[in-house]
Amino acid sequence: MAIENVIIIGSGPAGYTAAIYAARANLNPLLIEGYQSGGLLMLTSEVENFPGFPKGIQGPELMSHFRAQAERFGTRFIQKNVTDVDFSQGIKKVMIEREVLEAQSVIVSTGAATKWLGLESEQRLLGKGVSSCATCDGAFFRGAKLVVVGGGDSAMEEAHFLTRFASHVTVIHRKDTLRASKIMQDRAKNNPKISFIWDTEVLEVLGEDAVRGCKVRNLKTNQTSEVPCEGFFVAIGHEPNTSFLKGKLDLDSKGYVVLNHRPTTRTSVSGVFASGDVQDTVYRQAITAAASGCQAAIDVERYLESLH
Ligand code: NDP
Repeated sequence: MAIENVIIIGSGPAGYTAAIYAARANLNPLLIEGYQSGGLLMLTSEVENFPGFPKGIQGPELMSHFRAQAERFGTRFIQKNVTDVDFSQGIKKVMIEREVLEAQSVIVSTGAATKWLGLESEQRLLGKGVSSCATCDGAFFRGAKLVVVGGGDSAMEEAHFLTRFASHVTVIHRKDTLRASKIMQDRAKNNPKISFIWDTEVLEVLGEDAVRGCKVRNLKTNQTSEVPCEGFFVAIGHEPNTSFLKGKLDLDSKGYVVLNHRPTTRTSVSGVFASGDVQDTVYRQAITAAASGCQAAIDVERYLESLH
């Protein structure tokens, strides 16, 4: 089997942008998209802050543009998940189920996944009123009372979006100040269908076969109470998709890939690069992910030249 120049793992803005640049540099990249291609933007509704789209664009449509552009320059795609990697030799191995692919270099752009509260009731009622995706599930809750947990931009965006369907949305946040950007905060606070419960944690999602509310505790007074709702949306951030990289690359305490030679995208292993949310604990935007995908492709180009 041929040894690839570069295998790109992940199909969000970072992976596709790396592919566009690598393909245009004649590196004939192979991109492992995973079973669910497109990354987190596939779960987003309107993207208003991606430059070049003054009227905004739907997340999935934006991702189909990214993919088409990568394909136009000859990127090859595999729609499977990577199950393991071996970066111990000069030639890197990437395992996809029973198949072993080999490459001179790898770009890891596997992004991040939704974080959950970690309650047993949350997982039990997943799909029965518990969700992490307003865009996917919001329309099931016409006229319903909903809860959104979190205080960041995701929570504000979800809450605002859900008011299209819901009769009321209650945001439950563990602090008394939001982490969300000013514009998103203002939008949520000015929406008459949204109210806030501050300094409060969720102890349990209530319901047998369908959500009927949640049990909460005020962190300042220690008082517990119940908030009735038919839908319960968790929007507390994300964690990096790096379980298959443990012991193979330097990861930080939260599992993000550590870049050891900033400002380049080089990781702890020579020939392995990382871009996008999988290494970004600060910005986590589509545009910054795309930018770091471009950097990774340029780093790969230089790395491959250095081998000759
Ligand atoms: P963030 O990490 O910014 O916010 C997570 C929120 O959830 C915080 O308020 C945090 O509380 C809370 N939280 C975390 N863990 C728990 C827990 N276990 N229990 C209860 N609450 C918890 O994540 P986001 O997904 O909101 O945003 C990630 C990035 O994506 C940001 O950079 C954001 O700007 C960006 N983004 C931009 C959007 C846009 O511009 N349209 C839309 C969505 C995201 P605490 O504040 O106490 O830490």
